Amino acid sequence: MPNPLYDRLFGRYAGQQTPFLHLPDGSVIAHDAFLRMAARFAHALTAQGLTPGDRLAVQLAKSPEMLAVYAACAQAGIIFLPLNTAYTAAEVDYFVGNSGAKLVLCDTAAEAALVPVCAAHGAALMTLDGDGTGSFADAAQGLPETFDTVDRSADDLAAFLYTSGTTGRSKGAMLSQENLLSNSATLAQVWRFTEDDVLLHALPIFHTHGLFVATNVTLLAGGSMIFLPKFDTDTVIANLPKATAMMGVPTFYTRLLDDPRFDRDLVGHFRLFVSGSAPLLAETHRQFEDRTGHRILERYGMTETNMNTSNPYDGDRRAGTVGPALPGVELKVTDPETGAELPRGEIGMIEVRGANVFQGYWQMPEKTKEELREDGFFITGDLGLVEPDGYVTIVGRGKDLIISGGFNIYPKEIELVLDDLPGVKESAVVGAPHPDFGESVVAVLVPETGATLDHALVAPALADRLAKFKQPRHVAVVDALPRNTMGKVQKNVLRDQFAGVFTDG
Ligand code: ATP
Ligand code: MG
Repeated sequence: MPNPLYDRLFGRYAGQQTPFLHLPDGSVIAHDAFLRMAARFAHALTAQGLTPGDRLAVQLAKSPEMLAVYAACAQAGIIFLPLNTAYTAAEVDYFVGNSGAKLVLCDTAAEAALVPVCAAHGAALMTLDGDGTGSFADAAQGLPETFDTVDRSADDLAAFLYTSGTTGRSKGAMLSQENLLSNSATLAQVWRFTEDDVLLHALPIFHTHGLFVATNVTLLAGGSMIFLPKFDTDTVIANLPKATAMMGVPTFYTRLLDDPRFDRDLVGHFRLFVSGSAPLLAETHRQFEDRTGHRILERYGMTETNMNTSNPYDGDRRAGTVGPALPGVELKVTDPETGAELPRGEIGMIEVRGANVFQGYWQMPEKTKEELREDGFFITGDLGLVEPDGYVTIVGRGKDLIISGGFNIYPKEIELVLDDLPGVKESAVVGAPHPDFGESVVAVLVPETGATLDHALVAPALADRLAKFKQPRHVAVVDALPRNTMGKVQKNVLRDQFAGVFTDG
């Protein structure tokens, strides 16, 4: 019986001894062994009373077992709902309550804290550890290693993925099988993935980037993955010689560049480095090319839409841009007030439409209506522009826009100037309430090691580079910017922190 997600990602490998996961200890899990584990898990889930359409919440350390749970859900038609491992029990409470998950899988270490949470929502709780132990592993022990794949259509829901919560409370994006397959297949093609590829996978798999981009693309192409529990520079450097491609967030690349061992010799054989989830600094792009001869390919996507744009595989990977819209994705820029489409080159709200666009936010009909237009366009919340030749540049999030004295200020424009100043390692610009201007600009700077920075030093360097209304009226120097687990700068944290600089006292 058909089940596009399971069939295209997993079922096609039944009985094949080809390598799928290379683990840090040097062992390899072949496709067939992986599928047999997944089938046992599918039986165990069914034995727990889960039926097609039920939600399974999974808060597990990254492991082959966790990935096998994803495959088991696909095979049994259960909705896979991975949760960030950094979330506390209080946060998980919201996700379990909101999603109505019937069963929660967690690491043994987290079990005690989650018992009351699951009890409060009537969800069952079981454990599954990376070493193959735990009550769920026990329940799956000895169960049949084949499972009759449940019939599903491309329109059926396959996963709920909660957004990163960078701009507010996380929202549960409902993703259909089609959403997970359509542009992963496109990416496998445009990034030229083949069965010879070995992807260095150091991303978390509770997020769209590591799960639906990295993993699905590899599975669709028949390649294998060096499956690392997390990004650790030493382990990554040790494994780069065995890999052909890597997908990462910008902090992966800056960390590699901070290490003198990372050089041309180590990655001369590499085929592709991809960056996404947060803006890649043009400076990182340049340094990376100088050091390795490779140009990082930057792309742009999100939980709700998988991938929207990608710089080209062949051709101009343009630093500071996220490349043109992918085949099958319509992308336009609109006036945030009126929704009218803007001409190319003008900054506005990025909207996208295509088979990649999600089905709405679970139990948030109002939010869904606000962001998903009736004609199918999703209002991404990101501001940007499309160059005449189709390349897209993101200038920041709509929520980060600063309006000072009636002027729109795009933080990124100021950040680019600040990042260029001597002694500045990185910067973040936010607006803070101002009695005269409504809002005014606060620059938060991280200095290079040993550098001294303050307002008096920075201000003159900006005087002829930025219009007066864009110049920071307050400069704060910090050791590090607040980031979430995907490496995204949490501007809401900075906004709260500096909310009073122009109004207090
Ligand atoms: P929330 O929606 O809960 O506030 P979030 O938007 O950070 O969280 P994700 O879906 O993980 O949740 O992230 C998608 C966002 O990441 C995009 O809307 C965009 O702002 C940002 N992003 C992704 N790739 C890039 C990129 N290459 N350059 C700039 N920003 C990017
Ligand atoms: Mg978002």
